[in-house]
Amino acid sequence: MDDKLTSPSELLATVDQLIRPEIKALSAYHVPPADNMLKLDAMENPFNWPGRLQAEWFEALKNVSVNRYPDPAAQSVKDKLRQVMEVDDRFDIMLGNGSDEIIQIIAMALAGTGRVVMAPEPSFVMYAMIAKFVGMEYVGVPLKEDFTLDLTAFLTAIEIHQPSLVFLAQPNNPTGNLFEADDVRKIIESTSGLVVLDEAYMAFTDSDLLPMLEAYSNVVVMRTVSKVGLAGLRLGMLVGEHAWLNEFDKIRLPYNINVLTQASAEFALTHYDDLLEQTKLIRNERNRVSSALEQFEGFTVFPSEANFLLVRVTMANIGARDIFEKLKAEGILIKCLDGGHPLLKGCLRLTIGAPAENDRLLSALKAY
Ligand SMILES: *Cc1c(COP(=O)(O)O)cnc(C)c1O
Repeated sequence: MDDKLTSPSELLATVDQLIRPEIKALSAYHVPPADNMLKLDAMENPFNWPGRLQAEWFEALKNVSVNRYPDPAAQSVKDKLRQVMEVDDRFDIMLGNGSDEIIQIIAMALAGTGRVVMAPEPSFVMYAMIAKFVGMEYVGVPLKEDFTLDLTAFLTAIEIHQPSLVFLAQPNNPTGNLFEADDVRKIIESTSGLVVLDEAYMAFTDSDLLPMLEAYSNVVVMRTVSKVGLAGLRLGMLVGEHAWLNEFDKIRLPYNINVLTQASAEFALTHYDDLLEQTKLIRNERNRVSSALEQFEGFTVFPSEANFLLVRVTMANIGARDIFEKLKAEGILIKCLDGGHPLLKGCLRLTIGAPAENDRLLSALKAY
C-alpha cells in the first residue's frame, strides 16, 4: 500500500478484507456506563477496605518502583495465594491478568484446525468468545430448564465433537448453581480433552474442587480474586500439574502482572481474613435477599452459591427488560439476561451488594 491517506471507504474495504470473518461477526464485550449508579451488575464486592488497612496499603505502595519491570514470576503473590487457597506443593500456579487472560492462554495453547471448545450454556460468555478469537470451534450444550446440567446431552456432545477443551464453572455464571459433583466427575472421565474447572465464586460456596487435581490428570482449576473484592487488580490463577502449566507459561506474556497489582495483591492476601469476613456477610445477604424475593409475587428465584441471584420475572403486565430499564431510571444497574440465551427468557441477574444497597433494590422491586 502507498503511504497516502486512504479515503474512509478504502479504509473500510481494507479492514473488511483483512480482519478474519469470525472476528467481524463478533460484537465487543459491552460494559454499560455506571457513573453515579448503584452497581449491582458485575459481581463486585461492594465493600472498600477499612481505613486502617487502606493506610497500610498506601504505605506498601510507596516502595513500588514503577520504573522497573515487575517480577516476571510474581513469586511472592503466588506464595501468598498458595497459602490462603491451601494449594498443595505438588501443583504449580500460573497467574493471569484476570482469569480471562488465563482462559485465553489455555485456548491459544490448545487451538488448532477443527479443535473444539465445549461448555454448558448459558455459562460464562468469555469461553465462547475466546474460542472464536483463537479460531477454535465452540459447542455449547444447553442446560436443563432448571439450569441443572443435562448430563446425557453433555456426554453425547463429547462423543460427537471430541472436545480438546471443556469449561465447567462451579458455581456457574449466570445461573449461580453448582452442578452435581458426580456429573462433573463423569464429564472429566468421559473426555480426553482438558477440563478447566472455573471456581471464580469459590468464596461464596463450600464447594472446593482442588481435590479433583489429585484424582484426574486432565483437570486444571482456575480461580480469581475479582469476586472476593479485588476486581480492580485483575488477578486470576490457574492451579494444576507442572506438565500442563509449563506449556501454558510459554504463552503467558512475561510481565502480565504489573507492579501495582503485585504489591497490592501481596498486601491484600496478607489480610485475606478481612476479605473473607466481607464475603461471609455477602453470603448472608444473598440468603436474605433470596428469601425476601421469594415472598414477592411475580419472581422466581433460583438457588445460588455465588454472590448474585438469578431471578425470572413472571408478571403478566411487565417484563424483565422493563424492570431492568425502570431500575436503571432509578439509578440501579443490574444485568438483564433476557434475550441473551433462550433458556434465560425473562431473567435478571442481581449482584448482592451491601445491606443498605440490597434494601434499596428490594424496595424498588417490591413496587413493581
Ligand atoms: C467473573 C468470572 C470470571 C472472570 O474473572 P476475572 O478474573 O475478573 O477475569 C471467570 N469465570 C467466571 C465464571 C466468572 O463469572
